[in-house]
Amino acid sequence: MDVIISIFKSLFYTFFPRKCLFCDSILAENETKICSRCQKLYPYPDSYAKEEFFAPLLPYISDICVMGWYSQTKKAIKEFKFNENLNYGRQLARLLNEKLARQEWINDIDYIIPVPLHKRKLRKRGFNQSEYISKLIAKRFDKKIMVDNLVRLVYNKDQHGSSQEERYENVRGIFNVKNHSLLENKTVLLVDDVITTCSTVSECCKELVKSENIKIYIACLATDRQII
Ligand SMILES: [Zn+2]
Repeated sequence: MDVIISIFKSLFYTFFPRKCLFCDSILAENETKICSRCQKLYPYPDSYAKEEFFAPLLPYISDICVMGWYSQTKKAIKEFKFNENLNYGRQLARLLNEKLARQEWINDIDYIIPVPLHKRKLRKRGFNQSEYISKLIAKRFDKKIMVDNLVRLVYNKDQHGSSQEERYENVRGIFNVKNHSLLENKTVLLVDDVITTCSTVSECCKELVKSENIKIYIACLATDRQII
């Protein structure tokens, strides 16, 4: 029976080859979802979290967990974010969860908070990609998610093409925590999909730290800190 199944499988994959989620190359039989070349490349070294790129965040956060490089995960993230291809979303979250599971602090998290979209943007796009990832993190680690306390007050156009200074200017003061007492003495994990300049997440942090004795960690799918 096993032989028949394996013959059927290899015949099936000859006609419908499985492809790597990141680079589209055809997967070998012993590979699942991601080819071995990408497996070697995607993990983002934890040491980078202490680098200059994240300097604007360091006054506010305890640590940051980044899954991969944007240059490598771009196709998968675009499919997920703009085409709402949730299969990509699930795989990206699975890889981020693998990495989060290795962080000692993951057990201390009280709330997982996605970077919010403005409600007009949410209506336009149909879903908040960071909230989708947050739900999968919450499920994996049995944590609570908080979606309606940190809100975005101002509708921004897409930041694509804006300079670093413009990005910082565009997000200044646009986030608000409705009820700071819910976050007093809590440890939270702020989740974003891609960190390009730190402007959005640092602005979220500036608002979150107004809650007394809050501790903030950040998780994201990718940063464009380095092009491979
Ligand atoms: Zn690959």
